[in-house]
Amino acid sequence: MDKGLRLTEKWLQRGLWLVAIVFAGFLIGLGSLVVRNLWDVERPLTVEQFMDPARARALKAELEQSRERREAARERLDQATQKHAVAQSNTRSARATFDNWLATRDATARPEQDPELIARTRALDALEADERKALGAVEAEQQAMLDATQASDRAHVSWRRLEEPAQRAFLDASEAKELRVFLYRLALTLPLLLVAGWLFRHKRKSADWPFAWGFILFALFTFFFELVPYLPSYGGYVRYAVGIVLTVIVGRYAITWLQHYLARQKQAEALPAVERRQTMRYDVALARLGKGVCPGCERPVDLKDNGIDFCPHCGIGLFDRCGCCSARKNAFARFCFSCGTAANTTLAD
Ligand SMILES: [Zn+2]
Ligand SMILES: [Zn+2]
Repeated sequence: MDKGLRLTEKWLQRGLWLVAIVFAGFLIGLGSLVVRNLWDVERPLTVEQFMDPARARALKAELEQSRERREAARERLDQATQKHAVAQSNTRSARATFDNWLATRDATARPEQDPELIARTRALDALEADERKALGAVEAEQQAMLDATQASDRAHVSWRRLEEPAQRAFLDASEAKELRVFLYRLALTLPLLLVAGWLFRHKRKSADWPFAWGFILFALFTFFFELVPYLPSYGGYVRYAVGIVLTVIVGRYAITWLQHYLARQKQAEALPAVERRQTMRYDVALARLGKGVCPGCERPVDLKDNGIDFCPHCGIGLFDRCGCCSARKNAFARFCFSCGTAANTTLAD
């Protein structure tokens, strides 16, 4: 991650950051797929697998049977009800005809019609007997349906009784499975953080830094965000605990880095100016001057004041005169801007 001032170099640096982010994006996508599918590592759980299989099978058969019986009884009941309705209307119309006939007979009062009266009465009796029989069939089917319904209710009650402890066992097993799968997920994502830490320590400044940073982003995102929807109730503790540990490690690292930097800087400022200038990097020196700070000690200096040739804080020369044309020039420039004579050719890029 060298910071150069050349235009192409600057843009390439930005492009490499884009590479790091895209790399992280693909890794995150892949990681989230793996983390999600970890649930399927174990067999899916069902309530029935916690029931006595023989009892469950028998009860299921019983439930199915009583349901079929009830359906059949309902169909037969519909038929019988229809037949009863027909018999009822037959009787009703026959009785009406008979009543009319009887009325005429009473009016005429012809005794030779008595045998017909007997025959008609018999026919009416027969129709009434049919109606009663049809009613009997309806009642029998109602009874059959009631029996089937009660059998089904009893089977349901037995099923619920069998299901209740199974339900509890199922919930316990589900909770245990949730914990196990969470541990699998943790076992997968926690080492990613360790790898990311190693990459940060050793590879963040190597030529392959975009991949190292991509992986670091991926590991952080996966642990702190990807895991969130799968956290069990106590999962927050794991997340915050790891977050605290990580912050402490990063904080300690930053503090040590700051101390080392200050120590290094003090040591460098104690060296003679010529020697210091040679250890400085050209682009860094120019970038610092551009920000209005001394390239040697990084403290602010008024560069617009033509009277200031040396840093008032550390004493390093900021401006000098060209050995050839004696123009006042930037002491860090490699060539005199006025005559082109080489000056600080020893500064590294
Ligand atoms: Zn200075
Ligand atoms: Zn010159």
